[in-house]
Amino acid sequence: MDLNKYKNLTRGISDTYVNVHPIQRGGVLTAEARKALLEFGDGYSVCDYCFESRVDLVDKPPVHDFTGDVAEFLNMDDVRFTAGCRHAKWAVMHMVCEPGDTVVVDALAHYTSYLAAEANKLCIVEVPHNGYPMFEIDPQGYAVKFEEIEQKTGKLPSIAVLTHVDYRYGNIADAEKVGEICKEYGVPFLLNTAYSSGIMPVDGKKLHVDFLCGSGHKSWAASAPIGILATTYEWSTRVFNKSTCRGDWSGRGFSKKEVALFGCSPVFGAPVATLMASFPAVVERVKHWDKEVRNAQYFVNELEKIEGFHQMGVKPKQHPLMNFESLPLHEIAEKDKRRGYFLYHELKKRKIVGLHPGMSKNFKINTYGLKHEQIEYVANAFKDIARENGIKVEE
Ligand SMILES: *Cc1c(COP(=O)(O)O)cnc(C)c1O
Repeated sequence: MDLNKYKNLTRGISDTYVNVHPIQRGGVLTAEARKALLEFGDGYSVCDYCFESRVDLVDKPPVHDFTGDVAEFLNMDDVRFTAGCRHAKWAVMHMVCEPGDTVVVDALAHYTSYLAAEANKLCIVEVPHNGYPMFEIDPQGYAVKFEEIEQKTGKLPSIAVLTHVDYRYGNIADAEKVGEICKEYGVPFLLNTAYSSGIMPVDGKKLHVDFLCGSGHKSWAASAPIGILATTYEWSTRVFNKSTCRGDWSGRGFSKKEVALFGCSPVFGAPVATLMASFPAVVERVKHWDKEVRNAQYFVNELEKIEGFHQMGVKPKQHPLMNFESLPLHEIAEKDKRRGYFLYHELKKRKIVGLHPGMSKNFKINTYGLKHEQIEYVANAFKDIARENGIKVEE
């Protein structure tokens, strides 16, 4: 066993690089979070003054207040911190559904939505999207599936899941409409905001959401792993149900511990501290969402000046996560001995990282939080690479 490889761990990307990695932009730590990371890096560091047996009730540091403030920020009633958005989804399904029940998901859902359903032994029914090139989810598809399921099984699905912003095309789904439909049918509504809450305004009540799941490391400038699970008063006791078991020999019980949170919460030190330390900046940054959308639209406009480059998904772009079809690049990559890695290497030469190595037919990029000059720089790099390889670029 060679233990030396664990020494001096580095990522190989310094501040001189522009990182456009699709999943990494919203999780870049704030300066405040970096400081908190050092202060609270030790294991159970937020548990010094735990008197109520749960992290969300600790007053020093102010996790208890923070839980309430996050609920207010999302316009929900109650919040807990989870091991990630995926754990939040698992927890909701675990507490609300029975094995054999049906869950309805959008066909652009993240794999963790499918696996949360699978782990809870639920049947999965998808609401289709309209395919190339828009990949839109029609909210009415939820009503159609609810009716079909009721006819087939004699009861409505026990939960409906919508991906607010999907990870493939960065489309923003009409959550309010889906929420209205769920309400009309009385189907509980889980909104997956991994790519929305923390970077753009999200109002749970306005969208008729029963359960809102978010990702701290994807969109709230926090260290991994941490997720957010918010719910309403109506569902709070059910989802955050407390333990009732007893040791048959010792008689021990754990009546303050919440079952789906593994007792207290699976997150204690750095993840909670960084999420908290970044929160003031997160509250502020969602107010400037319009600037992020403008930057994204600017970037799309520049890249579409390259022959054969087309933004996939809904237009005009409403979110900084985007997907481009780039067939001419693919033809070049086919001939290049670096194959699909050609684009990755050409960008890296220009100090741009984050493109999936090996992709050239299609690629995803995220401009969230980049300065306008950085976005301009990345767009120019793509144009240079195109010109150098004989692809036409509109002036
Ligand atoms: C990234 C992502 C997730 C996973 O989030 P974790 O916090 O890492 O569990 C879930 N759903 C969607 C739509 C995502 O994009």
